[in-house]
Amino acid sequence: MLTAEINKEAFSSADTLDRIRIIDALYGDRVIHLSSMQKTAGVLMHMIYRTGARANIVFIDTQLHFPETLAVRDKFREKYGLEIVTVQPDITPQVQNKIYGTELHRFIDGQPLCCHLRKELPLKKAVERFQAKALITGLMRAEGNGRSQVPAVSSDPRIKCTVFNPLFDWTSSQIEDYLRRHDVPVHSLYGQSYASIGCAPCTTPVNPGEDDRAGRWRHLRVSNGCQPLYCNINYSDKINHSAQKNTT
Ligand code: SF4
Repeated sequence: MLTAEINKEAFSSADTLDRIRIIDALYGDRVIHLSSMQKTAGVLMHMIYRTGARANIVFIDTQLHFPETLAVRDKFREKYGLEIVTVQPDITPQVQNKIYGTELHRFIDGQPLCCHLRKELPLKKAVERFQAKALITGLMRAEGNGRSQVPAVSSDPRIKCTVFNPLFDWTSSQIEDYLRRHDVPVHSLYGQSYASIGCAPCTTPVNPGEDDRAGRWRHLRVSNGCQPLYCNINYSDKINHSAQKNTT
């Protein structure tokens, strides 16, 4: 089953629920949905619930999340009975600070290492634990920036997984509509002007007119007008340049 040929055209043109079913038929429980607990993840977790897909839902707890992020995870567990597996880095933030002598996230040249230690390595651990051959992400072309060309299906050579982006052709209003229609829990910080939510030290609300990702790593904005926009846990972000020209 795991060597089955993926028909990318059929996947792209299928209804989104059918995309989840296609992934399930191809990979069964050898697939991970990497859940950020943001709105797109809410849609995907709800679709996994609706279809009964066997995907392992994995939440990477960097140990630097907002308490509200952990609360959304717990709401999904309670409301839908979903098994959401939390994976953490091997070292606590305190130990990391001792090793590197500083809080890496505070510096433009420390952030990539911090994201590598607290996000990428735990993902690798999860892939090994579940012997996963595929990932489901919530990336959408409508997010723009480095994601404006995100394909429906790609691959991540770092973890030797096929990567499915079932929401690649969705828009923000479709996401909102789905969440409302199905009464899906939503991260409470969206109600406080946050537009994209990651670790607490690297996430701020956005001002009117700012790009949705302007609140990520805002403190690292530097004099040449660039700031990181992605943590690179998604391989397609990594190859599409993690530092984009800041437009805010
Ligand atoms: S988002 Fe910030 S705190 Fe979180 S892992 Fe990356 S650099 Fe570290």
